[in-house]
Amino acid sequence: MKKIGILGSTGSIGTQTLDIVRANPELKVETLAAGRNVDLMEQQAREFSPKLIAMWDETAYTELKTRLADTDIQVRCGMDGLLEAATYPAIDTVVAAIVGMIGIRPTIAAMKAGKDIALANKETLVTAGHIIMPLAEETGASILPVDSEHSAIFQSLQGNQHNAIHKILLTASGGPFRGRTIKELKSVRVEDALKHPNWTMGRKITIDSATLVNKGLEVMEAKWLFGVDYDQIQVVVHPQSVIHSMVEYEDGAIMAQLGTPDMRLPIQYALFYPDRKPLAGEHLDFYRLKQMTFEAPDTDTFRALKLAVSAGKTGGTMPTVFNAANELAVALFLEKKISFLQITDIIEDCMLRHSPAADPDLDEILAVEQETYAHIREKFS
Ligand code: NDP
Repeated sequence: MKKIGILGSTGSIGTQTLDIVRANPELKVETLAAGRNVDLMEQQAREFSPKLIAMWDETAYTELKTRLADTDIQVRCGMDGLLEAATYPAIDTVVAAIVGMIGIRPTIAAMKAGKDIALANKETLVTAGHIIMPLAEETGASILPVDSEHSAIFQSLQGNQHNAIHKILLTASGGPFRGRTIKELKSVRVEDALKHPNWTMGRKITIDSATLVNKGLEVMEAKWLFGVDYDQIQVVVHPQSVIHSMVEYEDGAIMAQLGTPDMRLPIQYALFYPDRKPLAGEHLDFYRLKQMTFEAPDTDTFRALKLAVSAGKTGGTMPTVFNAANELAVALFLEKKISFLQITDIIEDCMLRHSPAADPDLDEILAVEQETYAHIREKFS
């Protein structure tokens, strides 16, 4: 029996993790955590009977506590609640699937408490990779990637020598606006940006996919997870999303992981690694798959990808500025307060005014996040 805690259980990754739990009785959910979705959390509580639930939002916490008064589930609130859900003694593995930088502290706390991490929350590695990776070494915690590209790379590394990696080929669908010009992007609406061609995901990551910020975050995530240099990571646009990423070795051999776009596979692989389990659903049919195409990303139009690589190469606090600026800019875009192209303009503006500090600790990272938000609120909202 593997005991798990799910941070972000009401979201896209969280609910798909619970699908895996439904199909695998050897998984037991001990803790759940989310932001404010009380209705869904109550349903999850009654179905999975966890020992402890944390809600970030105080009103949601009070409401959930009242609704679950007839159970013996403990309900907690705020960051203390998230930390308790992440470090609960009985759990072996934490699924880190909260969206945004709020996920950093619970992930670090879980690692310090000796838990393995099934990591979806890429913002954690982007901003604090230099803390997380040495901590994993020190505590022995495994970090198992949930992001489909990183899971594909991880799967392509099995049975091979990591020091023989020549290059990581990180595939990208190109998002809903692939092929459009800057002029055409001026007038895109929130509804258009939320229509991803291949994947159904949370709102923030769907917008990140449209700007190619998501691919930029993934480049930084890959650098930390697989210990490669930025120059060894090549983004390849592959609109069909059949190849989820590849590793090219020094002898020219390329290993890839292919499949239908279904996040349950990387989630399940992370939870059962190194075992493979059956997974219900459509499998890839090569007779129906007519073609696979590949192209270079258009980084003149989708400048965020270039900015991300530059932030990653600069390092220190710069990736935090990139990430925090994007988080708030996406929220403003979703509220229809700024245009689509302004998301990238805001990221660039924040990066240009920032003097990066090397090797920041967690407090410095969180302070830079707040400074970045304050600058954007003053200048753009
Ligand atoms: P969603 O928006 O669907 O879900 C986010 C989850 O985080 C919800 O459960 C939400 O709770 C919770 N949450 C938000 N704010 C807080 C908070 N302050 N405290 C506690 N919980 C909070 O996001 P996704 O599932 O799409 O993405 C989650 C993470 O996984 C992101 O980092 C994303 O980049 C990454 N990822 C997602 C993929 C996907 O296919 N969706 C693929 C690869 C990576 P509530 O709704 O109750 O407020």
